[in-house]
Amino acid sequence: MKTNIPFTLDTKKSISALGETALIKQIKIWLGKTNPRSPFGIGDDCAVLPASKTSQLVTVDPIIYGRHFDQSVTAEQAGSKLLKRNISDIAAMGGKPTYCVISLSLDSHVKLSWLKSFYTGLRKTAEKYFILIVGGDIAETKGACSATLTLLGKTASKRFLTRHSAKPNDFIFVTGKLGLSLQSGHHYSFTPRLNEALWISKQTAVNSLMDLSDGLAKDINCLVPKKAVACIYSDKLPLRSKASIKEALCDGEDYELLFTVSNKTNPEHFKSRWKKKFPNVELSLIGHMCPQGKRPSNALNLSAFQGYEHLSKQ
Ligand SMILES: [Mg+2]
Repeated sequence: MKTNIPFTLDTKKSISALGETALIKQIKIWLGKTNPRSPFGIGDDCAVLPASKTSQLVTVDPIIYGRHFDQSVTAEQAGSKLLKRNISDIAAMGGKPTYCVISLSLDSHVKLSWLKSFYTGLRKTAEKYFILIVGGDIAETKGACSATLTLLGKTASKRFLTRHSAKPNDFIFVTGKLGLSLQSGHHYSFTPRLNEALWISKQTAVNSLMDLSDGLAKDINCLVPKKAVACIYSDKLPLRSKASIKEALCDGEDYELLFTVSNKTNPEHFKSRWKKKFPNVELSLIGHMCPQGKRPSNALNLSAFQGYEHLSKQ
């Protein structure tokens, strides 16, 4: 039976059958054209990258077996997810992804066939988004099957958006649907909102932008300006099919865009411009940044909901 479990007790089928040097050779073959020749790609102490005329972006995110994926996800889907969740972070700054390096922590019992498929997922996704994979590292780690990817990007123009520039009274918008990411398979099948974020970053009325990874209830706190509070309305939340309000607020791994728009903008005009540009991507006005102490009684009390909190016992 075909299984997605990354480990095998058959040493002939594991990565230990190859050893590091032969494995790196294999990885270069698996990556094909997404791995340029040394010194621009794998094969030297560092990769050499061209200078950039605009600001450079850098982000890092891992996937860990048992945490970010399990045997319900194929190796190819896991490889794709690793790159896409990093792309989502570059998108969240209004940037374009460019180059990446990958650090693997693998038990010697990891199947060679699993790793090959993992790299197939990485390669296909890299090709789709014109990303070059220019280096990496492999460390043997007992019991582990995890990979950490560092992705570089560049801003599309001089303007880039951060989490720290929302203003009181800004409208709050979110793309797509929220909740049940794990159950629906969205956590690996999602499309990073790269083109949407590029468009958003060009709109001067947009004051702040981020991507949703830990759940709206937690992530919105990153955007709330001083002397304001986020007022979000439950009937405005774009729920994934069968998702509850709590699941939409707390599940995490939505990889949607959350952003704020100046209250001097007509939100309906903004939405209709969006619809013309992205007819297949839902955009929802879910609330606004109320001045402190002025939260309407029908707005959600977000402190009653918990998003995913890393490094805490939940
Ligand atoms: Mg993020």
